[in-house]
Amino acid sequence: MEIFSQIAPLKAFLKDLKCEGKSVGLVPTMGALHDGHLTLFKASASQNDITVGSIFVNPIQFNNPNDLLKYPRTIEKDTKLLETVGCNVLFHPPMGEMYPEESTVKIDFGRLDKTMEGKYRPGHFSGVALVVSKLFNIIQPDQAYFGQKDWQQFAIIQKLVEELNFKINLHSITTLREADGLALSSRNQRLTPEQRKIANVFYRGLLEAKTGFREGLPLDHVRNKVRQTVEGYPGAKLEYFELADSKNLNLLEYVEQSRRPIMCIAGYIEEVRLIDNMFLD
Ligand code: AMP
Repeated sequence: MEIFSQIAPLKAFLKDLKCEGKSVGLVPTMGALHDGHLTLFKASASQNDITVGSIFVNPIQFNNPNDLLKYPRTIEKDTKLLETVGCNVLFHPPMGEMYPEESTVKIDFGRLDKTMEGKYRPGHFSGVALVVSKLFNIIQPDQAYFGQKDWQQFAIIQKLVEELNFKINLHSITTLREADGLALSSRNQRLTPEQRKIANVFYRGLLEAKTGFREGLPLDHVRNKVRQTVEGYPGAKLEYFELADSKNLNLLEYVEQSRRPIMCIAGYIEEVRLIDNMFLD
């Protein structure tokens, strides 16, 4: 695996490969890699000649300074893991390489980034879209791989690619879960063993909601049940539970199958914020 921290040599290296007709897949990450990330790398490696992974903890997408400070950084372990999953190139830039000057560009997605995560993390998706646009321009991949766990992020990147005419195929990869249903996340590392035991409450809430909707219960009723389930545990708090159109993220009041509805949930186990989602297919 080739490792680059600077943009210019990375571009030169990839240019040669592209001239040889090699296809390039990109997996953008913030590191602290777990098996969920690795499924994205495996998907890319199976569909492209060259897989590029990026590891960059993007400060402008953190609206909570404490979250940025506490974000796990495990670059040596990550590098070893990437060697095992067919990653050919790692791009691990320092802050000054990505943002030589303070970034002033803001990207507004209208309603798409004002709901759910966008409502509780103002500026988050502008920061995500900016760093992903930079990575797309630097690496110019044929395909890029994202996790379903961050569905709103995927919907926003789809919009970005459409509106800015990036010629990139996007893939959303199914969420990898622990045996008890907890979605794998870098933030899970911050849970104490006691907190970890209850951290699947959000997944259980989603399953319960699915059953509720199948039984024809109204959204308010379902949301109350989810809140009771989550907040039945001391230290667990529901931030939101929403039903949304999976393409444009408009919030739905009831299940309309034609909109491929998705249930999205977010909350806290003490100070660790977790998100999850589930389609209602
Ligand atoms: P992050 O490093 O948290 O920014 O995540 C990098 C990519 O990995 C994003 O596209 C995430 O959606 C994806 N990802 C995170 N957790 C999982 C998971 N449990 N299963 C599959 N993909 C995931």
